[in-house]
Formats: sequence, C-alpha cells, structure tokens
Amino acid sequence: MSDGTTPHRKKRIFSGMQPSGEAHLGNYLGALKRWVDMQDEYDCIWCIVDDHAITSGTDPRELPGNVFDLAVSFLAVGLDPERAIIFVQSDVHEHTELAWLFNAVTPVGDLERMTQYKDKASRVESVPAGILNYPILQAADILVYKADAVPVGEDQRQHLELARDVARKFNAAYGDTFPEPAALIGDAGRIRGLDGDAKMSKSIGNTVGILAELDEVWARVRTAVTDPQRVRRTDPGRPEVCNVFSLHKFFSDEETVEDVATQCRAATRGCVECKKILAENIAAAFAPFRERAAHYRAHPEEVKRILDEGAEKARAIASATMAEVRRKMGLRWRDALG
Ligand code: SF4
Repeated sequence: MSDGTTPHRKKRIFSGMQPSGEAHLGNYLGALKRWVDMQDEYDCIWCIVDDHAITSGTDPRELPGNVFDLAVSFLAVGLDPERAIIFVQSDVHEHTELAWLFNAVTPVGDLERMTQYKDKASRVESVPAGILNYPILQAADILVYKADAVPVGEDQRQHLELARDVARKFNAAYGDTFPEPAALIGDAGRIRGLDGDAKMSKSIGNTVGILAELDEVWARVRTAVTDPQRVRRTDPGRPEVCNVFSLHKFFSDEETVEDVATQCRAATRGCVECKKILAENIAAAFAPFRERAAHYRAHPEEVKRILDEGAEKARAIASATMAEVRRKMGLRWRDALG
C-alpha cells in the first residue's frame, strides 16, 4: 500500500523476443540480463513473439522448436514465472486482433517512414505487407496489456514512438483507452558482433549461444576482431576501441578489466591470451544457465505448463482490453437490437 488507502500498483512493462532458437550473447546483454533484473521492480510480461517471426519467412518446420528453445533460454537465464508472465504470442489471439483494429488509426505514411521497414524492403523484390505492418503488431503487443513502459534497445525506439502515436490516435478517435508507454532505454549500448559488425546476430554467425560450453565459446571468441592497430604482439593496444575489451566489461571482474586495459596498453599481454581470459569468464557466467537449461530440456512438460499458465494470465488481461476496445469501436452489432 502506498499511503494506507490506495493500493500501489507496480508499473507494468512488456517486451518480446523473436524465436530463432537458443538465445545468444547479444540477446542476453541487450535484453535478457536486464529483464531478469527488472522482475522485482516491475509487473513484467515477457513474450516469445512467433507471430512476428513469420514476417521473416521462418520455416514452419523449425518454428515450434525455436519457440521451445527460446523458452528454455528465458527460464535458464532466470526469467521467473512466479514473478512475471511468460508466454507465446500466438497463444493469445488478442494481439493480432488488436493489430487489425489499429489499422484503422495508423497512416501508411507513418509505417513507410520506419527505418527498419526501409532497410528490409530495400533487400527484397516483393515486400510482404507484414514487414510494413510489423510495428502495428508491436503496438498491439504493448497496448493490449496497457503497459506503462517498454524496455527497448536504441534500434526499437522508433517503433515505440509509433506505438505511442497509435495510442494517442486511438484515444482521440474513440476515447481515453491506452496509456502512452514510455521507453526504458538500457545502458548496455550497442552490442557489436564478434566480427566487429554493427549488430550481433545468429544469422550473421558473429555471436555465441548462451548455453555454449567453454570449447564453443573459445572457438567463437578466438575469431573476434581486436584493435586493428595492434598488428604485432609488441604493438601497444587501445582497449577503448577493442570489442573484446567491451565484452570483458560485462563478464570480467573490475580488477581483471583494469589489468586487461593496462597490459593491452603496455603490450605485455597478447590478444590471444586476453581472449582466452574472456572466453573462460563468459563460459563461467553461462554455467548456471547450462545447468538450468538441462533441467528444462529433461522436463519439457514443465516448460509447456509454464507457457500455458503464462498465456492464461496474459489472456485474462488482453481479453478485458479487447472487450473495451470492441465496445468503443462499435463492434457490438447486438446492441442495435436493443
Ligand atoms: Fe583487445 Fe585484449 Fe588485444 Fe587489447 S589485448 S587489443 S583488449 S584483445
């Protein structure tokens, strides 16, 4: 209770992740790590967004397995069904239903202006409507729960702005219904790929799975690009421009991070040794994840139960919103019968 009379409601947040199998380092540093920490402070809803995945032409034979693997990753890193709602988007049809209704208040021009749309559309000959409409479904994902805020990376800020616009336009047309969700931008910054690419992604192959053993982590980390000016071992390096050093800051303790920087500048430690330390620290940080994942893989019925219960809780909130939306939009023909 906040003042003895008014019940204090935690702020509700929603976030989703597309299922492409086991989560990777970029998913972990850019989102999951933060989501785990948010679970005490917020009323959290974590969603596996398989309805979004179909817009990128996912193979239907692989999609169910990818959903399961991502659910295992969610649980392995510490997303907690006791403290948060964890579910699969396609289990709650209200998302797609609300997205359709939001078509009524979303100008095509706003969708065409989205940077991600322009980027994706430039790479295909025939643009599926789903790529254009993707942000409308994202708006529905968030607003169907009347979420107060959304933890997003910088690259999703524009889509969240659109969701806020959709809420505003809907409220103006049909009466006050949705809050305008705020952006909770993380401080992890942009997580560059191990190859130095701007984005860490499984499809590019410049990352490592969060359930990887040391051998696999090392196989990936040893290929990571470093300071391009450090050609020979005797060349002093610049940790501030080295991606390996950025990753040390996430996975190594303060003393090690300082030591890595000092030895890099003084050229007293080679890049191979520096990467080995990083690989060991990453694999050690992943060890509890691997243990929990092994448990859930051995008990798939437990994962199913968690997702079923999550979907039920999500549906209870979403269906109440939809009843209100349908009423406000006049989608109740029986009322005409008196
Ligand atoms: Fe990067 Fe480490 Fe090599 Fe320095 S020693 S350039 S921090 S990999």
